[in-house]
Amino acid sequence: MRCYLCPVKCGADREIRAGACGVTGITVAKAYLHPFEEPFLSPNGRSGTVFFGGCSLRCIFCQNFEVSRAEKGKKMSPKELSELFVSLKAEGAENIDLVTADHVIPSVAEALALCDLHIPVIFNSGGYVTTEALALIDPYIDIYLPDFKFSSPLLAKNFTGREDYPAVAEQAIAFMAQKSPVFSDGRLLRGLAVRHLALPAHTEDSKQVLDRLSRLIPKETPLSLMRQYTPMGETDGFPELRRRLTDREYERVVGYALSLGFSNLFTQDAESADKKFIPVW
Ligand code: SF4
Repeated sequence: MRCYLCPVKCGADREIRAGACGVTGITVAKAYLHPFEEPFLSPNGRSGTVFFGGCSLRCIFCQNFEVSRAEKGKKMSPKELSELFVSLKAEGAENIDLVTADHVIPSVAEALALCDLHIPVIFNSGGYVTTEALALIDPYIDIYLPDFKFSSPLLAKNFTGREDYPAVAEQAIAFMAQKSPVFSDGRLLRGLAVRHLALPAHTEDSKQVLDRLSRLIPKETPLSLMRQYTPMGETDGFPELRRRLTDREYERVVGYALSLGFSNLFTQDAESADKKFIPVW
């Protein structure tokens, strides 16, 4: 059967070959207790994180390049994936953190339906996902954690090949924002949190992302402004991406978020821009 799951709608017959996302079905590149997720998600630093291989968005600067290009990973059935979730919980996971499952949503939903986890399940997404696909997995998700990467369609096209990214991400985040928030002692148990990775030389676009978000989501929504950008990937032709963010650039983005009234900001130190925080695959 041809696949039209994600906004690429490449129509690949995934029984026979991988689609533009790079995989036929579930591929798990890494699963472990990840210590560096935001404290409002994982206060004890034990996020049961599952990195899925492949991705339908091809960010040229991807920090997980080998994984997103499906060079690494183990194929799994939904049953094996559900057993992996249960084993992460048994190891002490505070949540199950599904990293970039956008292109394998039906199979991951099937895996979640097979287990009864009783810990928050996080859908950690690049934001390039249709609302129709989200509706398939929504009953099993407690927390949505999308990126909103770019506001400019041209920038999105240059950096991912997908000019429609901003419009798709807006629709996806509007869908996700319908999950009403539940906090306990500062920990998010249900609802939405949004991430934005500030890029060097593109603070104006970051500000436009924040403008869009200010119209889309409540100001008290947890908003993680990441400054961990580390030059990686295939950035030839974009020399501005060959350096880290400056303090001044990051301060402009954070200051603008505060000026818009976002009250639940999570920020990062300059030291976060280090390859040591990128998992070894
Ligand atoms: S999920 Fe993969 S196979 Fe399906 S439409 Fe998207 S890129 Fe193509």
